[in-house]
Amino acid sequence: MQIPANFAFSQNNLQDYVDCPRRFELRYLEKLVWPAIRSEPILAVERHMLLGERFHRMIQQHQSGLPADLVGVTASEPELIDWWQAYLSAAPEPLPERRLVEHTLSAPFGNYRLIAKYDLLAIAPGERAVIVDWKTSLRKPKRALLSRRIQTRLYPFLLAEAGKLLNNGAAIKPEQIELIYWFTADPRNPERFPYSIDQFDQDRNFLQNLIADVVNASETDFPLTGDESMCRYCNYRSLCDRGVSAAEREDDAADEENSESSGFDLDFEQISEIAF
Ligand code: SF4
Repeated sequence: MQIPANFAFSQNNLQDYVDCPRRFELRYLEKLVWPAIRSEPILAVERHMLLGERFHRMIQQHQSGLPADLVGVTASEPELIDWWQAYLSAAPEPLPERRLVEHTLSAPFGNYRLIAKYDLLAIAPGERAVIVDWKTSLRKPKRALLSRRIQTRLYPFLLAEAGKLLNNGAAIKPEQIELIYWFTADPRNPERFPYSIDQFDQDRNFLQNLIADVVNASETDFPLTGDESMCRYCNYRSLCDRGVSAAEREDDAADEENSESSGFDLDFEQISEIAF
C-alpha cells in the first residue's frame, strides 16, 4: 500500500515501523481498528492510561500558569496524588521562563512531512531550548534504550529544523537544545539528552534512511516483526496469529528490563495514539 503524498511521519508511527512494519501498515495506512485487548487485566491498563492522561492535563494547566493548589485539588486517586507531589517537588529545574505546552511542530522533509507534539517546550530565545517529556510508564527504561527511541532523535531534530518562529525568527542551534525525559517511576532521576550539530546531522541521515525504508516497504511488503515480544500488547495479535489474549503485566516484569519496548508499552502516549 502506497504512502499518501501528504503523509506526516511522527515518533509514534516511525517507532511502530521500527518495532513492526506490519503494525505500521495496519495502523497508519489501512487504519484498521482491531478490537484486541492490549493487556490483562484490561481495567488496570485502562485505569493507568486514564490517570496518565489526567496527569498530563494537570501539568499542562500548571505549566500554563494555573496555581499548583488549584490544579492539585483535582487529583483524588492515590497514584495521581503521588505523581503530582513528585512533579511539584522534583520537576526538572531551572527551565527557561517561556513555556509552550502540548505544542505541535511540523516541517516538510523530502516528499513528506515530519511532525511532533511536545509535552513542554521551555525556551529562552537565542540561548536555550528545553524539551520536557513527562513519562508515566510503569518503569523507567534504561538510558541506552531511551537513546535508541525515535522520539529521542526526532524531537530535538525537528525543533532545530522548524523552531525558528519560537526563537525570534532565528533557527535554534542544535547545541542550544536539550531533551529531558521525566518519570513518575523515578522523578528525581530524569534522563537528559543534550543535542549537538553532529547528532543533528546523524539524525537527518537516520530519518531520511528510515523514511526511505518505509517507502520501499510500501512498494513491496510490510513484514511481521521477527521479535514476538513486540506483539505482547499489540492490538493486532489475533489478526497476525500471534496469540489471542495479551500478556499479563506482572508476568512481563522480569523480561521488560531488556526489551526494546520496555517501559513504553503502557505509557500513556503509546496507548492513546496521538492522531497525527
Ligand atoms: S501482532 Fe505482532 S506481528 Fe502483528 S502487527 Fe502486532 S507487533 Fe506486528
